[in-house]
Amino acid sequence: MAAGQGRVGRDTLALTLGIETSCDETSVAVVEDGRRVLSNVIHSQVELHKEFGGVVPELAARDHLERLPHLLEVALERAGAKPQDIDLIAATRGPGLAGCLLVGVGVAEGLSAAWSTPLLGVNHLWGHIYAAMLARPDLEPPLLGLVVSGAHSDLVRMPEHGHFQVIGRTRDDAAGEAFDKAARMLGLGYPGGPALDRLARTGDARRQPLPKPSLPGLEYSFSGLKTALLYRLRDLGAAVTEQDKADLAASFERSVVESLLEKLDAALRDHPYPEVVVSGGVAANTLLRKRATEVVGTRARLTMPPLELCTDNAAMIAAAGYFSQFTSPPRGEDESSYFTSPPREEVESRYFTSPPHGEDESSYFTSPPRGEVESRLRLSGGAVGPVLVDPSLGW
Ligand code: ADP
Ligand code: MG
Repeated sequence: MAAGQGRVGRDTLALTLGIETSCDETSVAVVEDGRRVLSNVIHSQVELHKEFGGVVPELAARDHLERLPHLLEVALERAGAKPQDIDLIAATRGPGLAGCLLVGVGVAEGLSAAWSTPLLGVNHLWGHIYAAMLARPDLEPPLLGLVVSGAHSDLVRMPEHGHFQVIGRTRDDAAGEAFDKAARMLGLGYPGGPALDRLARTGDARRQPLPKPSLPGLEYSFSGLKTALLYRLRDLGAAVTEQDKADLAASFERSVVESLLEKLDAALRDHPYPEVVVSGGVAANTLLRKRATEVVGTRARLTMPPLELCTDNAAMIAAAGYFSQFTSPPRGEDESSYFTSPPREEVESRYFTSPPHGEDESSYFTSPPRGEVESRLRLSGGAVGPVLVDPSLGW
């Protein structure tokens, strides 16, 4: 790959600008050599969505658009970098909310055109693993990863950079989603995970035991546990005390955490790994952090990124983008649209037809003028682009 245009004499694209807008955090970061965070500016939309009890996609997308220009300025300033210093732009291309992803990718495309800087679309889930590389600069694959977020509970093997194999995942709710729903049942509001974590610290799981989900193999399921909590609360009825709620929070947390770690333990017994990474928003959980250390023990080195790198942030996207320049398309998956130029017809059809299921994205996808399509493709073309937004992207 050609050297970046900003830094004379460097043969890799060293200074990466990351942009993350997949859900309800707007973030811009500057990362050097994929390992050193020069700036990581994060704006959380929690206040915006609080009154609705969850993320409202349309509001989220509009807020990303309003915030990005200022966050970009702050991120560059804190990094002591100018636009011409940036060698690579990396923006989250999925999975996430379609409207939100389009804002980040659209801004990234604009910057790429204005600065003549290559642009790369990054898989958000890869970002969660690469967050660990920022936390521990000597961390290298092969590794076993547990990515636990609001939308995913995935056990993945990473044999080398840019290669991921999912070996376990949830059949229904993600762990973060389960925490959020349990928190709502306990009257803790939004965002639920951190609130449930705090309440659980004052409870005793043994006083309100709940079942630990257990599926064969490396699969997870949290819907039965959620129902068990619902029925327990119904049985307690109006007599439920604040202590009962704290005990239930502790019990729910214990069941989720032990279930997550039981499969991690099984995966480690199946196959040795020198490194284990636990990351994603739920990796901020107090009990998960403590128990993961005990369960992994001396079998592998465990890396859990610090809290600000566990939840959504652009530094991890920049890191994943940086390392993507050294990887070939992953085996076993058609990743052609990631790193090379797919046929023109495919690009056009992916951009402008098939709105994501369940969302009315028609305003985003209906026929722009042909000239605009072609210029967008040209601008982000070459070895790196174009970036395609894909809300349903897997690993
Ligand atoms: P996504 O990428 O799916 O939006 P994030 O990686 O931002 O998810 O993580 C957000 C999820 O993490 C939410 O479901 C939130 O409740 C959960 N979470 C955050 N902190 C904690 C915590 N301390 N304990 C449990 N869950 C948490
Ligand atoms: Mg996330």
